[in-house]
Amino acid sequence: RRLIQTEESREDLVYEPKIRPKMLSDYIGQEKLKEMLSIYIEAAKKRKQSLDHCLFYGPPGLGKTTISNIIANELGVNCKITSGPAIEKPGEMAAILNSLSEGDVLFVDEIHRLNRQVEEVLYPAMEDFAIDVLLGKESSTRSLRLELPHFTLIGATTRAGLLSAPLRDRFGIISKLEFYKKEELTKIVLRSAKVLSVPIEEDGAKSIAMRSRGTPRLANRLLRRIRDFADVKYEGVITKDVAEESLDLLNVDKLGLDQNDRAYLTAIVDKYSGGPVGLETLAVSLGEDSGTVEDMIEPYLLLQGLIDRTKRGRVATESAYRHLGLVQ
Ligand code: ADP
Repeated sequence: RRLIQTEESREDLVYEPKIRPKMLSDYIGQEKLKEMLSIYIEAAKKRKQSLDHCLFYGPPGLGKTTISNIIANELGVNCKITSGPAIEKPGEMAAILNSLSEGDVLFVDEIHRLNRQVEEVLYPAMEDFAIDVLLGKESSTRSLRLELPHFTLIGATTRAGLLSAPLRDRFGIISKLEFYKKEELTKIVLRSAKVLSVPIEEDGAKSIAMRSRGTPRLANRLLRRIRDFADVKYEGVITKDVAEESLDLLNVDKLGLDQNDRAYLTAIVDKYSGGPVGLETLAVSLGEDSGTVEDMIEPYLLLQGLIDRTKRGRVATESAYRHLGLVQ
């Protein structure tokens, strides 16, 4: 089973409500984003206006959904949640917009997957807080403008590049979520452990943080797995040794790479002599979809300097060879 999934697993859904931070002060890391948001939120509250529309992008599991819920909590409004693929017809989007109350947040996950007609409903909604409804049939249609409450649209996407320009231009706040630093992930692990009453030592949390690919969702997932190991095989406390032995058993290596990441690197090295190799070709040889490879595998490998993206394709760097134990 993959540890890195775009979708939340059923287990995530059980634990999520408990460990997901509710207010900005519990949200660890992403300092610049937090600072900026706290100012915008305060300003919106002072002026009694809705917050500008926000677009958050970056790899899965970095806290886009979490920060969106926090924004609604901080504003003291409701957060309605939907996703790009869930809305098929313009009328469905119109109905959702129409159900909002003044100041509400509408969170649209995977916003790059909205279809064109649905997206077009959003243009006047975002710009003028109105929707145009067509009445009548064929030759005698006329359009009626329906006013909407002032609301904040928050879009999340793993691929900002796939957003159409007209949609993108309608967001006042656009922010990229960054991979988390080890110290931040350590804090996240300690916080989640506390919430779940899991006994853990600081060094144990550090080991988990080091191997979580800079991703809070993964850190939380590993914490839960290691807690099982700690309960069954050890004395219950997650120490450094317990964490590291469990991580080895889980096939998560020193950089946090799992089997899929290593398969990716090995493919470039073995099948394509280290590259360059095109994304599509590489994806086919891994039996994965190229979008998944680009969104979920590559960003962290790029950050770690294990691969390069060149005009002619992907290349494995010397660090990749070293990491795979192929050179000293
Ligand atoms: P995304 O929407 O980007 O895929 P989520 O918002 O669902 O990611 O976050 C995944 C998990 O990571 C959630 O369980 C949340 O509890 C945790 N998380 C994310 N960001 C933070 C953070 N900054 N501080 C603490 N926990 C976080």
